[in-house]
Amino acid sequence: MKPAKFNYLRPSSMEEAVHYLSEYGEDAKVLSGGQSLIPLLNMRLSTPKYLIDIGRAEGLSYIKEDGESLVIGTLTKHTEIEKSELVKGKCPLLSEAIRWVGHEQIRNRGTVGGSIAHGDPSAELPCVLTALRGEIVIVDVNGEEIVSPEDFFLTYMLTSLQPDQLVKEIRFPRIKPTCGSAFVEVARRHGDFGLVEVAAVVDLCEDGRFSDVKLAIGGVNSVPTLLEDVERLLVGKEPTEEIFNEAGDLTMELVEPESDLHGTAEYRRELSGTMVIRALKQATDRAQGGRVM
Ligand SMILES: Cc1cc2nc3c(=O)[nH]c(=O)nc-3n(C[C@H](O)[C@H](O)[C@H](O)COP(=O)(O)OP(=O)(O)OC[C@H]3O[C@@H](n4cnc5c(N)ncnc54)[C@H](O)[C@@H]3O)c2cc1C
Repeated sequence: MKPAKFNYLRPSSMEEAVHYLSEYGEDAKVLSGGQSLIPLLNMRLSTPKYLIDIGRAEGLSYIKEDGESLVIGTLTKHTEIEKSELVKGKCPLLSEAIRWVGHEQIRNRGTVGGSIAHGDPSAELPCVLTALRGEIVIVDVNGEEIVSPEDFFLTYMLTSLQPDQLVKEIRFPRIKPTCGSAFVEVARRHGDFGLVEVAAVVDLCEDGRFSDVKLAIGGVNSVPTLLEDVERLLVGKEPTEEIFNEAGDLTMELVEPESDLHGTAEYRRELSGTMVIRALKQATDRAQGGRVM
């Protein structure tokens, strides 16, 4: 199918984009890489009167360090993140996760801001951002606002973004060099969205116990979800087979999956426990490898 008729606007700066949004926001859609929006337009699931194509707006594509965070401009392509040495060094979890996003062609056009704004609960970047307690910087004509993932992702494909707001940049807290991290996913085919995915970061005390654990899961709830009860269970404990199994069991109690074409709720629940164990073991192995015990 072809999209319904729309007016095409192509701002050359963020300020111009925000101005258009303040004027036409209720009737408009922002276009970044188009990897999710164009199919929706073609199927007429979205029929905006105005399409605000920010793809060539200047100054919205960057990866830089700011204090304890990696700051990534909204128009930064997945491929740029994948290739970035800065990301590899400061946030290896993000480098590992980004390789699971669709196929190379999609990663060459899709953007970090588009992925976050789209709010798919199975998407990789929202899961990593949630685990790391990152931040989303939003802008409108009145200025900037910083929103946490928990306040931003409301339910399936619905975020707190207002019609006149634009995602400006995403802040991913860097991971301490003593930590180990892992991103694991199960998808039906290579390039598909994950059935279940888990992002884990662990730090260990000198005596080998967990001093810090960050854990989030995607694909099983209506939003990417922090597993705070599992984090609390682990901190202060030794990384044993028994505690990993307890973490998996607790995860299965916490998730609320639904059945769909790709798998039953029971299957996703089982998979959640298995994937949490796998992510925690891998992250712990990496933390142990990087330390002199
Ligand atoms: C076959 C296929 C497989 C895919 N597999 C995966 C996958 O495994 N994992 C995954 O995460 N993604 C996957 N995707 C989606 C893809 O990764 C997109 O990169 C991503 O969802 C959106 O980025 P985009 O820049 O293309 O956004 P667009 O398609 O341009 O926009 C997506 C949505 O976000 C809004 N938006 C975009 N930018 C902004 C902004 N700056 N401010 C406010 N709103 C904005 C748009 O209005 C629209 O509603 C897949 C896509 C395809 C076609």
